[in-house]
Amino acid sequence: MSQKIHHYSNGEVTIVWQPELCKHSKLCWKGLNTVFNPGKRPWINANAAATNAIIEQVKKCPSGALSYFMNEEGASHNSIS
Ligand code: SF4
Repeated sequence: MSQKIHHYSNGEVTIVWQPELCKHSKLCWKGLNTVFNPGKRPWINANAAATNAIIEQVKKCPSGALSYFMNEEGASHNSIS
């Protein structure tokens, strides 16, 4: 398995990004552009919105490319370091 997995955390929630799954629906850009901005590098800024707003947007990703976990629950899944 050579899937790339990226993590972006604001200290409370961690956004998990799997680029190979992205269908480029643009839902995340349009829904929460302060966090998901493909014109920036890195394109995800986990500090640019409240944790709840991030979670709500991540849940709308239709492809599964975006997921999240709460830091206090540990990074037991997707634990590539
Ligand atoms: S919402 Fe999901 S599938 Fe759509 S662009 Fe964002 S990461 Fe990709």
